[in-house]
Amino acid sequence: MNFTELNLNKSLIDKLNENNYIKATPIQEAVIPLTFDNKDIIACAKTGSGKTLAFLLPVFHNLLKEEKKSAAISVIVLAPTRELALQIFEEARFLAKGSHILAAVLYGGTGYNEQKNTLKKNPDIIIGTPGRILDFIGSKDINTKTIETVIIDEADRMLDMGFIDDVKKIIKGTSQNRIISLFSATYNMAAFYSLWEYMRDPEEILINPELIDHAKIKQELYHLGLNEKPGYLVSLLKFHDFSRVIIFSNLKRLVPAISNLLNKYEISSAGLSSDFNQNKRLEILEKFKKGKFRVLVATDVASRGLHIEDIDLVVNYDIPQDPEGYVHRIGRTARAGKEGIAVSFCSELDYDNLSRIENYLSYKIPNLPPEDDFLVSVSGFYVSDESGVGRKRQRPQRANAKRADTYQKKPPFKTAYEPKKKRPEKKPYKKPQEDRDYKKHLKVKDSEVKDYVRILGKEKTKKGFFRSIFAVFFKSKKKVVMPSQKTLDLLRAEAESEKKSKKYRHRRKK
Ligand code: ADP
Ligand code: MG
Repeated sequence: MNFTELNLNKSLIDKLNENNYIKATPIQEAVIPLTFDNKDIIACAKTGSGKTLAFLLPVFHNLLKEEKKSAAISVIVLAPTRELALQIFEEARFLAKGSHILAAVLYGGTGYNEQKNTLKKNPDIIIGTPGRILDFIGSKDINTKTIETVIIDEADRMLDMGFIDDVKKIIKGTSQNRIISLFSATYNMAAFYSLWEYMRDPEEILINPELIDHAKIKQELYHLGLNEKPGYLVSLLKFHDFSRVIIFSNLKRLVPAISNLLNKYEISSAGLSSDFNQNKRLEILEKFKKGKFRVLVATDVASRGLHIEDIDLVVNYDIPQDPEGYVHRIGRTARAGKEGIAVSFCSELDYDNLSRIENYLSYKIPNLPPEDDFLVSVSGFYVSDESGVGRKRQRPQRANAKRADTYQKKPPFKTAYEPKKKRPEKKPYKKPQEDRDYKKHLKVKDSEVKDYVRILGKEKTKKGFFRSIFAVFFKSKKKVVMPSQKTLDLLRAEAESEKKSKKYRHRRKK
């Protein structure tokens, strides 16, 4: 069916035709008349089937009925990612060109001021991610009461993951007469049901939703060890000439690791994950679309709704957690009637996810033996920790971080001169008291007592004793201390008892 047959505003049709949009796609053909009837809609059709125009055209048609611009927001379009919001915004801007209709795009990751200023111009349509829109609702920059049309793009994902509460909050504030339309590539009952209370008997339009009968995508699965994946990936890309490749990973921190590895082996690549700021992400996507590099490494941020043509290989570096994620990832290739290959690496960590996917698909992904030549080891694969520091340097970095912490606990400067604390005076060392009395009187060192006793025991005469004492102390260069008579007596007694005990010992030995 041509657009001309759809009873759309003439200026819209002209605009479409001028840009070679002549025939409506099946989803557009089905959805557009229904929205004219003010019906809630759930529409599922493959990615690339033209869902964006399917919801934007009726919106513009209605807004163009008014001759003048209204001062209130009447349409809100919610999307899960900034890229997607921008993509929708681009199409809206194309349709709005030359008319009084104003669209605004609102997403996180950039400053508030610019977006706030566009809101002051009273846009008719706001397109954005739920978080940022809620921020603006909170700050009263957006009044949702006037909103009569709520469109949720990639609804399966929006309602399945984390966004559901935000989406509900936004919907609750909108007009009672609103229409809600959900657009999605996969049919996900559970997700859609979460908005049942807000929808009135929605009309379901399912046109080949992506339950892959993707005959054009050649799916291959390789069982590889976790450590075999990097080498296999490099070989796969080195030995085949795929011209445009997307590699998906579940983990954000694998993105730079993989792309650095590939660049090291002269496979031009760049990474795309939510770690990068908005401008960087757009710049990377633009370069990839223009073919400035061969391989895009991405988390699932990039797997939905984005239109990058001519991708001939999708690699699942690991197996995605949700089955729909798999469908979306491999759906990046074999678009517009072309053929493509989707290769999945499955390690022991991926088994759970794989069986979930195969249940969902209700067939097994063809499992091929890995090529021996591809099982090589490569260097240069460093997985960063959360802080983005390579594993190699992880340890010193952490140590530094710890030290910085403890520094901060101390006041950085002395605020005033504090009096120096007096050190407690050292107590003089007190030798434990000896129980032998004579040592009190003896003015010789403990170590010398033995000598005195020994000599006293040997020498019978006083003269002999003194001579011996001098001889001993002269040899050992010790200072001679002459014991008093009293001490001498005590020492002698000691020597005597020593002798006796020796005798005793001697006897016992016998
Ligand atoms: P989806 O949201 O279903 O994944 P999009 O709405 O993003 O797909 O559309 C995919 C591409 O097809 C876009 O580049 C869009 O401009 C183009 N397209 C949409 N409708 C038509 C049409 N009726 N005729 C030709 N091209 C179209
Ligand atoms: Mg889309």
